[in-house]
Amino acid sequence: MNKNPLVLILLGKSGAGKGTQLNLLKERLGLEFIGTGDLLRARKKIDDFTGKKIASVIDNGGIIVSSIPFKLWMDSFEVIKNKGDFKGLIIDGSPRKIKEAWLLEEALEWYEWDKRVRVVLIDISEEEAIARITRRKTCPECNNIIMFSKDDADIENCPKCGTKLVKRPEDTVEGTKKRLAWFEEEVGQTIRYYEEKNKLIRINGEQSVEDVYSDIIKVIEDDNN
Ligand SMILES: [Zn+2]
Repeated sequence: MNKNPLVLILLGKSGAGKGTQLNLLKERLGLEFIGTGDLLRARKKIDDFTGKKIASVIDNGGIIVSSIPFKLWMDSFEVIKNKGDFKGLIIDGSPRKIKEAWLLEEALEWYEWDKRVRVVLIDISEEEAIARITRRKTCPECNNIIMFSKDDADIENCPKCGTKLVKRPEDTVEGTKKRLAWFEEEVGQTIRYYEEKNKLIRINGEQSVEDVYSDIIKVIEDDNN
């Protein structure tokens, strides 16, 4: 049994089902979780220079410079490090740019969590991403996002609260293609970096949710990785 704490870095295009897998992993394995999106949203609420600037950059569709999420990761790592009973950590939505991958590597070394790092790419094709995102719907009441894979039947009402589901205006073919291009530009280099270091584990994201989950579990449990 490997005693080193696990660090799972989850990468994937929009529509790959990362959110679903994250929730399963958190629930079933009790891992800590750091999501860059959540950290930025929380930081944005603080009424100071950086808080206001994050809000304005996000509102204008801009990109937050790497030092900001990095500072937030380090603060979160410190909090987690000081907790007892640490089993492991999932990092979602990062690193994006290659320099964030380097910074993250240094940080994991600093906190002595670099012995059991798994970089998992939940891989789906562009066609699948477009098919899923242009069909997905959101609940205006509870913000539940319903993803349909290619072969699923559409549903009209939120399974949680029964409210009629709506489509987000940006979930068009064009909007999705823009997001995919952004992913390739931002994250493509980072994916190739992990690939060249033989660190990237690709999982077929076009399988069922449970099959994707069990593939991730196999990766986590494989101590030879
Ligand atoms: Zn709902």
